[in-house]
Amino acid sequence: MKVLVINAGSSSLKYQLINMIDESILAKGNAERIGIDNSVLSHTPAGKDKVEIKAEIKDHVQAVRMVIDALIHPDYGVISDMGEISAVGHRVVHGGEKFSGSVIIDDAVMEAIKENIELAPLHNPANITGIEACKSVMPDTPMVAVFDTAFHQTMPKEAYIYAIPYDAYAKYGIRRYGFHGTSHKYVALRAAKLMGKPIEDLKIITCHLGNGSSITAVKNGKSVDTSMGFTPLEGLPMGTRSGTIDPAIIMFLMEKENMTHDEINRYLNKESGVLGISGVSSDFRDLDAAAAEGNERAKTALHVFSYSIKKYIGAYTAAMGGLDCLVFTAGIGENNPYIRQKACEGLEFMGIKLDDERNKLYIRGKEGLISTDDSTVKVFSIPTNEELMIARETVELLK
Ligand code: ADP
Repeated sequence: MKVLVINAGSSSLKYQLINMIDESILAKGNAERIGIDNSVLSHTPAGKDKVEIKAEIKDHVQAVRMVIDALIHPDYGVISDMGEISAVGHRVVHGGEKFSGSVIIDDAVMEAIKENIELAPLHNPANITGIEACKSVMPDTPMVAVFDTAFHQTMPKEAYIYAIPYDAYAKYGIRRYGFHGTSHKYVALRAAKLMGKPIEDLKIITCHLGNGSSITAVKNGKSVDTSMGFTPLEGLPMGTRSGTIDPAIIMFLMEKENMTHDEINRYLNKESGVLGISGVSSDFRDLDAAAAEGNERAKTALHVFSYSIKKYIGAYTAAMGGLDCLVFTAGIGENNPYIRQKACEGLEFMGIKLDDERNKLYIRGKEGLISTDDSTVKVFSIPTNEELMIARETVELLK
């Protein structure tokens, strides 16, 4: 069975074709600048060089057609015809409270995803466009929606209700939803496997640290709390996002700097985070380099970030009444031993002891244990694989 995984953005369409017999990637790629000038499809068949197909891609329907053409191409294709694709798994950002798991897409599901546009105005419309484009090119292929929010629907009420008048929840659905659910679920399952224990018996904290970052408490296989909230702006400081701040700062700044709604939105989402603190970059490689040269603000940015991770580890250990396993994943989590070390520093009293050598060794896609043998909490670096998780959920639903 071959599953096509689609992650549609407003002007891009990322894809992977996965052979579910051995979970190998047959081909992957990205259609970029859809509807803009200089659009291009980059397509990489397994074990071969990347092919760049430059052509006008006027909309997502055309992008999907080009993806299919690339997949069946006599030179760089990997299947002989479209019929070999058994199903399509779509990443959908917001499932609201309607979806606590993945679903086969039908008209009612499409309606429900549309109802959630208000909760994810940048993402859900693009995801819908991607689904509709695939449906028009592959009308007979079953499609599945896998939501970023679904894994977190198991959170108890005390974890998702904000302390503002309850009307806000009842009227507008203002509550914690959480994001990166597919990634948190994938690495939690993987960690349980590496520990050789059923996930139902474990208390796990998963740290997804990328341009966007979030931390989740996974108790007995279920998300019981997560750091992102109503939107992906809450929680840890991120590349350019502020994360949690005193909400009074917003009113104060809007008044002092005469900011409009759009300006403050931009300020908190695009100009804050480690970029805002350092003034150097949102990319941790640049921050590491600047800090090594003695840049104080870059050092502060790294420390604000790692300190925030440490506080969540403490909070979620308390929330779960203990901790068996801590996981680092995504660009920074998988590749930055300094951040992992700073986040775990001083947590020996909780049974978290990093092994310096292992911590430096497990980077660049290498999965492994980075704690010492006598650390009671096992700490892992695990490369995330959201596409594979989407493909697995797609297969599971179609069984
Ligand atoms: P996104 O959230 O956009 O998917 P990533 O998960 O790729 O982003 O995370 C981006 C961050 O990860 C950047 O700050 C970058 O410095 C860091 N990163 C990614 N790859 C590496 C690497 N090979 N070595 C060091 N840092 C990396």
